[in-house]
Amino acid sequence: MKIIRGRAPEGASEHWSGTFTGEVWGDPVLPATDGVRINNVFFTPGARTHWHSHEQGQVLHVTAGAGYVCAEGGEPQRLEAGDTVWTPAGELHWHGGAPDSFLLHTAVSLGPTDWRDPVTDEQYTAEGADEGSGGAQERA
Ligand code: MN
Repeated sequence: MKIIRGRAPEGASEHWSGTFTGEVWGDPVLPATDGVRINNVFFTPGARTHWHSHEQGQVLHVTAGAGYVCAEGGEPQRLEAGDTVWTPAGELHWHGGAPDSFLLHTAVSLGPTDWRDPVTDEQYTAEGADEGSGGAQERA
């Protein structure tokens, strides 16, 4: 058993680059343990991951702000605080902040991550941000 109180012992926020576009910071909550990693991830407006998949899937829970998640073949879906996303094993996707808002989410990642190409500006802005386009899911 491992109990981690508050932030992971590693402590300091990490500036993540290389597999992200824009300014992204991560706080480890649970360092890699038996293939599970938990991070609090802060995306500045417009920042996002590269395309990627998780070998055994990923849970995202939005704790503050607003952003987007997009699966391969789909359109960006808007996320807001309180929303939870399950991405199944191997599904290519990206996630990040909205153009007009930061995004803070907790990410529970299962297994290794397979990183791919950056998300282009065209992919990032494809329909999802435009209400009424049919791209975004209807919200109450
Ligand atoms: Mn992911």
